[in-house]
Amino acid sequence: MIDYHLHLWSHDDSSVGYRLDQVAQYCEEAARHGVNELALTEHLYRFVELRATVGDFWNRWGHEPTAPLMADYFDFHARNSLEEYVAFAQLAKSEGLPVKVGMEVDFYRDQMDDVAALLSQYPFDVLIGSVHWLNTWQFDDIDNAAHMAEWRTRDVDQSWADYSLALEELAGAHVVDVLAHPDVIKVAGYVAHDPAPLWERMADAAAQADLSVECSSAGWFKPVGEQYPATGFLDRLVARGLTFTTASDAHGRERVGARADDLATLLEERGVHELASYEGRRRTMVPLRVTP
Ligand SMILES: [Zn+2]
Ligand SMILES: [Zn+2]
Repeated sequence: MIDYHLHLWSHDDSSVGYRLDQVAQYCEEAARHGVNELALTEHLYRFVELRATVGDFWNRWGHEPTAPLMADYFDFHARNSLEEYVAFAQLAKSEGLPVKVGMEVDFYRDQMDDVAALLSQYPFDVLIGSVHWLNTWQFDDIDNAAHMAEWRTRDVDQSWADYSLALEELAGAHVVDVLAHPDVIKVAGYVAHDPAPLWERMADAAAQADLSVECSSAGWFKPVGEQYPATGFLDRLVARGLTFTTASDAHGRERVGARADDLATLLEERGVHELASYEGRRRTMVPLRVTP
């Protein structure tokens, strides 16, 4: 199996010293779960080059109450060199560790051409794409009380519709290879009354862009208590013949490869027996399970 969504940093850190032994430990932990191919996919918002590319995007929507939080977030996190990160991931790979050079690319509305131009300067194997905020509202930051308070004042169905539109735009921007945690809008436990029409739209967008979609165990460890994507969403993705990656979204060794077997079972139950593997951003299909 594969784990194509891994972070070297915890969310509490703004920088980390790169260590090959950390990546080796990730690979060991993954192997215990039957996972033999990994992708390092640090958040793009960690890097000064991204910050220089998108600017103070949080000021573009008037004065949203969450805009100062977003400004603080970028001040704290966007402190690292993209050049150094990519060089480290390449080093880990050249040392023989079974890792791909990847990135988790956030969605920046109307700025994805600039983001693509930045990313094209580096030799990535795989880019996974994520919607983590709507304008300046970080709806998935479950540890931030101000962001979570928004859930109690906003219309949940509208938030889901806004999320779906953002994911459709991300898919249509043709910047990434994989849609990560495709229904992460549910993370805090707020779910639209009828998500099915939105699942249809997001599945259509993924199919039109020929993207793979991530099956992630991370949701099992969040308030929603459910994998990404929900089974009804997954059914629709399978029906369109889409390809899949599996992932943990681990931010530390202990979660690497988590519940990989349960993800495999969800896919096998739907007749999916291969996963999408990427090298130099080209997809090949590999068996879902490793035969020892
Ligand atoms: Zn994410
Ligand atoms: Zn992530």
